[in-house]
Amino acid sequence: MQKEAIYHSSSSKYLYAYDNETIHIRLRTKKGDADEIKLRWGDPFEWEEDEKGNWTWELYETVKMEKQGSSSLFDFWVAALKPPYKRVKYAFEIHSGSESIVYAEKGFFQSDEKNDSGGFFTFPYLNEEDVFSPPEWVKETVWYQIFPERFANGNPSLDPEGTLPWGSKDPERDSFFGGDLEGIIQHIDYLKDLGITGVYMTPVFKAPTNHKYDTIDYMEIDPHFGDKETFRKLVETCHSNGIKVMIDAVFNHAGYHFPPFQDVLEKGEASKYKDWFHMKEFPLKTEPKPNYATFAFEKTMPKLNTSNPELKAYLIETGKYWVKEFDVDGWRLDVANEVPHTFWREFRKEVKAIKPDVYILGEIWHEASEWLLGDQFDAVMNYPYTDAALRYFGKEEITAEEFIDKTVSAVYMYPDNVTEVSFNLLGSHDTPRILTECGGNKDKVKQLMAFLLSAPGTPCIYYGDEIGLSGDMDPGCRKCMVWDEKQRDLDMLAFTKKLISLRKAMPVFGNHGHLTFLDQYIGQDIIAYTKEYGEEKLLFLFSNAKGAELHLDESLQGGTFKELISGRDISGSEGIVLKPNEVLILKR
Ligand code: CA
Repeated sequence: MQKEAIYHSSSSKYLYAYDNETIHIRLRTKKGDADEIKLRWGDPFEWEEDEKGNWTWELYETVKMEKQGSSSLFDFWVAALKPPYKRVKYAFEIHSGSESIVYAEKGFFQSDEKNDSGGFFTFPYLNEEDVFSPPEWVKETVWYQIFPERFANGNPSLDPEGTLPWGSKDPERDSFFGGDLEGIIQHIDYLKDLGITGVYMTPVFKAPTNHKYDTIDYMEIDPHFGDKETFRKLVETCHSNGIKVMIDAVFNHAGYHFPPFQDVLEKGEASKYKDWFHMKEFPLKTEPKPNYATFAFEKTMPKLNTSNPELKAYLIETGKYWVKEFDVDGWRLDVANEVPHTFWREFRKEVKAIKPDVYILGEIWHEASEWLLGDQFDAVMNYPYTDAALRYFGKEEITAEEFIDKTVSAVYMYPDNVTEVSFNLLGSHDTPRILTECGGNKDKVKQLMAFLLSAPGTPCIYYGDEIGLSGDMDPGCRKCMVWDEKQRDLDMLAFTKKLISLRKAMPVFGNHGHLTFLDQYIGQDIIAYTKEYGEEKLLFLFSNAKGAELHLDESLQGGTFKELISGRDISGSEGIVLKPNEVLILKR
């Protein structure tokens, strides 16, 4: 047995409360090393006295752990317990061939040795207020990201000077096409028909650029986008159509034209706002590098000093204001990893006090456990999860083994209740369009969409991906939405709608279904996974550029499958033919 590879820790992703009754315990072993793992567990305080007056600890039960996933190096084992007194002492009994050993906090001991609860791992008490509890609605939500300047122009009278005719050319960094909030309202039927249930909009606050990430006033709607009344109407229109609304803010840094920063630029040390930023010295310089803290080295994005009480109060007030006055359902927070944890703890408390089920999403591109302990964010943008899919299906940069390895590793990076609400996206205003990443191959885009919509987490579709918009890194990925049916990829639209409807109709398709990769089909050039929920089971098959003919294992053979996208029947006992880059979703 490879003891060095055996790992458990009494902290977040290996030991956590899944809900108010259930504790999840995970163990990692070397791939293929352990045949069976049992969890020995009991209550820390359950002792019994024998006739001789000796007290012994009562082991409640020994339960089999389930091997729920495998990366290229490790197997991940899981047990879900509902301890009657909400507390547990536990150790792992690991079997490998003829060997068996027990792994506890004190280390390894022989399996026939007496259980010493003092050396066992401990979950002291399941306190409800410590349970990670994101808003319930999020795991059933399908998001749609809108870049308001490019979605639809509903009110030309607001257009900035120099606005170009809609879609007349590819966007440049400083182009304006006149998109606005009224445009979104006018196309609510499109969104409803697509089936999405949440809209995430990049910033709508007053700012000079087309992307509005350089906020001037967090309390005002940008006049090119509309006003507060239009914004209110937008939220109400979405709500009455069953669509949640998430807005975006940057609290890490301000825009260059943010009046307090301009005040410091002008008055230097005498400015009453000098402590709103991180100034090292006066006068301020911008060359060769700015002598004040910024986002990256960008002189036009001065970093905000969120420890300053006055500024902190202003930003937290912003967080509360749009929720309280306009009933928004979520905050997406830009560059969230560079803002202090204490700020986010306070932000969460204040905003959730107004609306407990508001969704707080941090923009973090890397592993983010420190922000996901229940006291700061409900989720982060789950780039690690979808990155492997893009590189495998889209760009053919990694092997099938690497894709499975990275995807499984991303799942075991977080507790299940964190993964269920993690924000999964294949592209955004910050990345090239998926169609472009796929070299224009629409079949690959369909594979990616099928993967996204069947993955655990809350999926987000970037506006226009569903009708075949293309474009490189920004500004290319920010083209105008196409409203002329003849210019749209209607096949892609129908495919996307079908996937969304399946996810909404079948619990097993989305978060309720457990995803298991079947790596035995890699040799047949197929990525395969099942999704299971109770009696329901789906089989997903993805071929590569060569296509494939797949022969299923005995366990899956027999009977007929219904392919859920096309509706055709497929025999399980004959070879299943897949065209190049095809996805089949099979249900018995
Ligand atoms: Ca307009």
